[in-house]
Amino acid sequence: ETKTYYSLRPNVPLPPPSEPLSITQYALYLLRSSTTTTSATTFLVDATTGESLSYGEFLRQVHSLARSLKTRYSLSKNDVAYILSLASLHVPVLYFSLLSLGVVISPANPLSSTSEVSHQIQLSKPSIAFATSHTSYKLPSNLRTILMDSPEFISLLNQNEDVADFANSNMTVYQSDPAAILYSSGTTGKVKGVLLSHLNVIAIIAGYYHVTEETDPNEGPPPHPVSFFTLPMFHVFGFFMLVRAASKGETLVFMERFDFKKMLKAVENYRVTYMPVSPPLIVAFINSKLTDKYDLSSLQLLGCGGAPLGKEVTLKFKEKFPNVEIRQGYGLTETGGAGSRVIGPDEAERHGSVGRLAELMEAKIVDPATGEALPPGQKGELWLRGPTIMKGYVGDDKATSETVHLEGWLKTGDLCYFDSNGFLFIVDRLKELIKYKAYQVPPVELEHLLHSNPEIADAAVIPYNGYWKGDVHQMGTFVDTVAEGLILKQVAPYKKIRRVAFINSIPKSTAGKILRRELVTHAISGNLSK
Ligand code: AMP
Repeated sequence: ETKTYYSLRPNVPLPPPSEPLSITQYALYLLRSSTTTTSATTFLVDATTGESLSYGEFLRQVHSLARSLKTRYSLSKNDVAYILSLASLHVPVLYFSLLSLGVVISPANPLSSTSEVSHQIQLSKPSIAFATSHTSYKLPSNLRTILMDSPEFISLLNQNEDVADFANSNMTVYQSDPAAILYSSGTTGKVKGVLLSHLNVIAIIAGYYHVTEETDPNEGPPPHPVSFFTLPMFHVFGFFMLVRAASKGETLVFMERFDFKKMLKAVENYRVTYMPVSPPLIVAFINSKLTDKYDLSSLQLLGCGGAPLGKEVTLKFKEKFPNVEIRQGYGLTETGGAGSRVIGPDEAERHGSVGRLAELMEAKIVDPATGEALPPGQKGELWLRGPTIMKGYVGDDKATSETVHLEGWLKTGDLCYFDSNGFLFIVDRLKELIKYKAYQVPPVELEHLLHSNPEIADAAVIPYNGYWKGDVHQMGTFVDTVAEGLILKQVAPYKKIRRVAFINSIPKSTAGKILRRELVTHAISGNLSK
């Protein structure tokens, strides 16, 4: 009887833990061993503007910016830099520079409202912010801010001083040092700052770097990998995929603002081979009539994560795009993005599974009622342990100890089971979290705001079509056609209330907790009128 599940992946070499090493140094160390990438290879392409950066230019800018930030702005280890920007060529340069200095990056969703920004800043306590002329108005005026679309910033990228002496200067960043604070509501309503160390990210990159599928020697060299990012760079999935792409010397195409048609055009133009996506995009691929109008023949793989992807959706996609494989992955901000993933075409056949446990990861399936660890085939809460698990929530020891067990186990709040072959299936969410287009929408946060309105006697927020399938199906299209509903100015647009139903009373437990599941059941059976 299995009580603990171990990763079935090969053992991944990690750098000795005491060796000083930043995420930047590690990625560049891996990059140097690439035999196919040269300094002329394109790293980043902004498909909106057509501008690009080669690896050579990227590294020059990273060193120039790091030097300037250290010498002119006196940034140093353990300072926190808050970042509020749409995706641009400057964002990866900024991440790599700051991380090389040991400065903690804290990127947030640029759609965040002013009050959300203010809450995030209270959590991460930055000494500097990097914003753009479109987002800076949301920042407090006493926070030193550099605009990334200003001539000043551009000049920091292009200092001609010799970078060699800088690279050799004694900037000691340890793997255990803090690297990033990302925002997540975890298993409760409140947004918290997830603190990841350099080691957390190094460990996930090591896994992706060392564990890849075999390529068929008879087929000749595979095409140079070109990925297209629909992922936001501030989310853990986008962040580590960005570092991963750099460590492998790949080309990464992105867009400032997502647009389905322009994305198809970019896939055609740049011969994109791989796209990390979230489920709504797969649904859009299935439903769109535009896909025939573009040459998508370069596309081989979609790596899907962030929210549940139903088996039926996968099958429908395969029917329309027989040559493109979908491989699911699963992770949380709190696990540095690692969790499980599908590797290779055989594992992809297990439709509906999120693959096998990630490299270096251990898992338990715990009965939420009894705390007992369960064998394969039985459902319980997934607990994860491994080197990618967060250091904790910044400044919130209580939330940290409620989420990360003393022995290092992280409670995911997801109801899951393993089958007897080590494939993981996510069945439901135990925690109070709704996902819209894979973005986090904590219902409790919205309820607090609704309660603050004197006209509203009581309120409960539920996912429109149920916890599970609804997560996906309500997002069938990227165009937001739901005009009705209450728009809350205090929150980012993706959190807006899309349907309102009036009921006599809200079902609550004796402890006063909203019985959300009961409401969801009523909504599914049509018992909540609009
Ligand atoms: P985030 O921290 O925003 O990445 O959210 C993490 C949560 O997203 C997980 O705890 C799951 O509830 C959900 N999630 C992520 N990936 C998947 C997946 N492949 N299938 C189902 N749910 C997922």
